[in-house]
Amino acid sequence: MITDSPAPAKTHESLCHHDWQQAGVRINCDYLLDDWLGPVSFLSRCCHCGQYAMLRLIDWSVPQTTRRIYLLQALPREATSVYLRNMNSCYCDLARKQQETQALLSTASGPQHLLLLHLPALLIERTMALPAGEKPRPGPWQTHLPDAANLHWFNLLDAPKPDAPEHSARTGGAPTHKNDSQNIPQ
Ligand SMILES: [Zn+2]
Repeated sequence: MITDSPAPAKTHESLCHHDWQQAGVRINCDYLLDDWLGPVSFLSRCCHCGQYAMLRLIDWSVPQTTRRIYLLQALPREATSVYLRNMNSCYCDLARKQQETQALLSTASGPQHLLLLHLPALLIERTMALPAGEKPRPGPWQTHLPDAANLHWFNLLDAPKPDAPEHSARTGGAPTHKNDSQNIPQ
């Protein structure tokens, strides 16, 4: 259920305990910022409480790139609403849109999370708080994606980086069972 009542004023957004912190849950892509064979950066809104978050690609599986690790950061509700209203208005100034996006990113605060998602369903395989001291590289995703042999982010999430050819999908956290597929929403 989405509640439209205004959130109490806070200096930092805390991350709600709904969609983004539960393996096996599908999340929404509410606004796509960048795409390469699937979302690279996007805004997601929790379908339970309406909280917004920004997700940015920091690594992907090889070779299919359909299992992707994103850095998630909670966004303030009001600033995100204003941003979405501006993005959906009809001006076509790309530089202005980039400025608006940077302005929104600068409002992100509070805890950061790592999510391993299956595309195209955006199904959470793994989710964890970003460990202290870990810092994804800034800059355009094309330049900060680790090499295929670099397992750092996948190891942190205790997940294999190479795609297993016999599995089109794996469920997060669960040991392999014959009936695993029934846990995957279609
Ligand atoms: Zn929520």
